[in-house]
Amino acid sequence: MPEPREDCLFCKLVAGGDHVRDAEGFVAIADINPQAPVHLLVLPERHVDTFRDVAEFPPEEAQRMLAFVADTAAAPGLTDYRVVVNVGPEAGQTVFHLHWHILGGRPMGETL
Ligand code: 5GP
Ligand code: ZN
Repeated sequence: MPEPREDCLFCKLVAGGDHVRDAEGFVAIADINPQAPVHLLVLPERHVDTFRDVAEFPPEEAQRMLAFVADTAAAPGLTDYRVVVNVGPEAGQTVFHLHWHILGGRPMGETL
């Protein structure tokens, strides 16, 4: 596993944040500014700047990351929910450490 980045908020939160779930290589935290009744963030321990670089994950780790996203949504009882990854500033990315938003607990509407 590469070293955490000193200047990265999410590397710091992986190392020492308030985790709602943990697994080897991944944590989930509650979003500080929730956009839905359930708004969780899945953070991989491996620092990659954006989803563009997702191929940097070893295949087995990438597979476990996806399973961790699904398990993290299921844990609070969500069956219907939205998973969002903002890729780049124009798509709304503000923290440049890959993360997966899990949004649920209200109807999410028909538009993206
Ligand atoms: P992005 O806009 O990069 O897709 O998502 C970043 C998310 O991180 C935002 O939804 C924002 O509310 C959340 N966030 C930013 N700073 C913190 C923090 O210090 N703690 C937590 N729990 N969430 C944060
Ligand atoms: Zn990081």
